Amino acid sequence: MSLLTVGSVAFDALETPFGKTDKIIGGAATYITLSASYFAEKNNLVAVVGDDFPQSMINDLQQHGVNTEGLQIRQGEKTFFWSGKYHNDMNTRDTVEVQLNVMEDFDPIIPESYQDCQYLMLGNTAPAIQRTVIERLRTRPKLIVLDTMNLWIEIAYPDLTELIKQVDVLVVNDEESRQLTREYSLVRAAAKIRTMGPKTVIIKKGEHGALLFHEDRIFFAPALPLEEVFDPTGAGDTFAGGFIGYLAKTDNISFDNMKRGIIYGSAMASFCVEKFGAERIMNLTQDEIQARVSEFVKLSAFGFEEVI
Ligand code: AMP
Repeated sequence: MSLLTVGSVAFDALETPFGKTDKIIGGAATYITLSASYFAEKNNLVAVVGDDFPQSMINDLQQHGVNTEGLQIRQGEKTFFWSGKYHNDMNTRDTVEVQLNVMEDFDPIIPESYQDCQYLMLGNTAPAIQRTVIERLRTRPKLIVLDTMNLWIEIAYPDLTELIKQVDVLVVNDEESRQLTREYSLVRAAAKIRTMGPKTVIIKKGEHGALLFHEDRIFFAPALPLEEVFDPTGAGDTFAGGFIGYLAKTDNISFDNMKRGIIYGSAMASFCVEKFGAERIMNLTQDEIQARVSEFVKLSAFGFEEVI
């Protein structure tokens, strides 16, 4: 089934306890589409870059089967830039600098060939842009998944709450869910978010896995315990790309299939953190992905015998 992703395509500069990078390629939609490329048959991108963005990266996306017809290249303008610095625990980071550049007045044009998309991934960007994408689709997709971040909760709360009403699944991290609902308990936060619109809520907890809430059911997926987390940037987007890519491939949005989607998303995210930027998720094989998923299955499987 076909997937449409909107979100940032960016230059990132990162600092982790393991090292520093100058400008490397990042952006929410970059990670999402690369991750989803291992699953979704049609993988359509809507985003904007400046003429400083390397054609070689656009070629790489295309080689991964990403349709870049909806990627606008604005002449004489600069690509969105974000820089972040991780704390020692790698679970928290500070945004050091943001230059919106081409994102400042981004108008997401949807190519005609994207109109048949059944799965829509609203990756991190301003809620007003995400909403415009929904409005410009003539038929509502079967599943709309929304990702957002603390910045939009702080500066675009009214837009965000309007948008949340229209989506099926909200993906946020634990802090964002608390910030959005003012509830400390994640169970209460998820319940409150479900009263705001989405039937399903996914709360990511970094190296502590992810929770899936749907009606009165909860599923927990662990994160793979890794010896070394090199760079967590994009792990959340890679997770979301694996999740929606898997759902689009299997064309099944039941709770049981979402559980499998969460495991695939977690497996993809576990690769992402092994190297700086998107390097690792650009070079995966289906065998590596399947082997990683098997590790997840083993991680929490146990033989259960009732003794009382
Ligand atoms: P994640 O680590 O999954 O939260 O995503 C990191 C990516 O989000 C980076 O590659 C950034 O380029 C991108 N990003 C950071 N801030 C923003 C923003 N305000 N809007 C859109 N994308 C952003």
